[in-house]
Amino acid sequence: MAYDFLSIEKKWQQRWESEGTFNVERDPGSEKFYCLEMFPYPSGALHMGHLRNYSIGDMLARFLMMEGKQVLHPMGYDAFGLPAENAAIKYGTHPHKWTWDNIEHMTDQLKRMGCSYDWRRRVETCNPNYYHWTQWLFLQFHKKGLAYRKTAPVNWCESCGTVLANEQVINDGHCWRCATPVVKKNLVQWFLRITDYAQELLDSLDDLPGWPERVKLMQRNWIGRSEGVRLRFALYGASLEIETFTTRIDTIFGVTFLALSPEHPAVSFIADRSPKKDEIEEFVASSITQTEREQAAAGGEKRGIDTGLFAVNPVNGEKVPVWIANYILMEYGTGAIMGVPAHDQRDFDFARKYSIPVIPVINPPTGEILDGRTMDVAFEEDGIQCNSGKFDGMPSSEALPAMTEWFVSSGWGEREVNFRLRDWLISRQRYWGAPIPIIYCDKCGAVPVPESDLPVELPLDIEMKTGVNPLAGADEWKRAPCPKCGGPGVRETDTMDTFICSSWYFLRFASPWTESGPFETEDTDYWMAVDQYIG
Ligand SMILES: [Zn+2]
Ligand SMILES: [Zn+2]
Repeated sequence: MAYDFLSIEKKWQQRWESEGTFNVERDPGSEKFYCLEMFPYPSGALHMGHLRNYSIGDMLARFLMMEGKQVLHPMGYDAFGLPAENAAIKYGTHPHKWTWDNIEHMTDQLKRMGCSYDWRRRVETCNPNYYHWTQWLFLQFHKKGLAYRKTAPVNWCESCGTVLANEQVINDGHCWRCATPVVKKNLVQWFLRITDYAQELLDSLDDLPGWPERVKLMQRNWIGRSEGVRLRFALYGASLEIETFTTRIDTIFGVTFLALSPEHPAVSFIADRSPKKDEIEEFVASSITQTEREQAAAGGEKRGIDTGLFAVNPVNGEKVPVWIANYILMEYGTGAIMGVPAHDQRDFDFARKYSIPVIPVINPPTGEILDGRTMDVAFEEDGIQCNSGKFDGMPSSEALPAMTEWFVSSGWGEREVNFRLRDWLISRQRYWGAPIPIIYCDKCGAVPVPESDLPVELPLDIEMKTGVNPLAGADEWKRAPCPKCGGPGVRETDTMDTFICSSWYFLRFASPWTESGPFETEDTDYWMAVDQYIG
């Protein structure tokens, strides 16, 4: 007899739904299990990847339910983001309609798949009852100084009038939509001060039993803690000092150039005093795309320009040329480096390309004597100091702490711990996201929307156009009285990166109905932490 999928599945799925088989409540008397799966973008329809992922969670959840555990197995939608805007423009619909239609369709598909979810707990990040609390969280960060505004360089298309993601800058620096050359523009953007937590994030990696070492290492490298020295090079004949950071003060005698990022604030000062002002400005303008810059930093083609100015090495008074180079990223360190080509491969590649001298200050422990004129790679390992004044002959591993002590006590610099981690740029010039709850007032500045006025809802009556943030044109929505002085104000038209929305949904699943906060602690005390994440 053939198995009649259609009628048998339907029968049981209806029964699960009518009996609330997978609905779950807190039960302090019994053991809980929180089985969390990656929640999908409502992109249209489920694909085989979803099916695979959600089957794993479904099996686990059902098994544990049958063992008598209280199993929280929820599902929701990561529903804001650019794809909805693009689809809306493409199909002549509204992101709101496109998204909600997809949510209902995909929910129907998941039900037909037979997944054991407590559907009463479904959350959608684009639902005002959810992003109310995303905005509330932003306000708490703002109150503590953890959400702040600063000017940051971004990719900008003049023709589209919008910021572009690095991935949207193509064909050697052109806009992916209209092929206009992309420029770097300094815009005021919102950030979250995640760097305040760098050390805590790093320390907590030691407290993660059962995690693959590979994953922990990735995280460690992303945080990127390094101990070193922050030092200053005085510009020769000018009243300006350039700060750099190095983890290799043992190579300080091998410095043969200084290199600045094209965005370094000292570049215009230097250009004004350089015989090559025009060439420098041209070079800076041509080093616009972040992609090219990151590739250069990672080992790709390096370009630079000699400014004709010199800086003074504090340890020996030697004058070294000051360059501007595309492989120096403003986002890391100080945006300027001391170039030690003998002992850093990137500096070596750059020095060979532009015939800058290479001076070895550490020889290999094998006894080999390096010759800067004939070396074909940088020597980056430990060895024996040479050309290093009173430190000659000392193993470099001993020289590093000794030279740090000497350097710092001579007043040339300070010990410093640096992190690769940067603050998180969260503002997007997009419509389909959670509005940042801020009102600008000429008198009071950036004023947070009072919590009692949340959520700041997205207006639905907008015009969708390519490359323009519809919120910037929503004049009626934008106008709002200043919460502080009552005078005329204007709403922030940037929305939050969707990764903010998806950074706390697992907490909302514990209390999806509460209207008095993002979640109830008695719920999260019971359900958290997530016991198994699948995604
Ligand atoms: Zn464009
Ligand atoms: Zn005001």
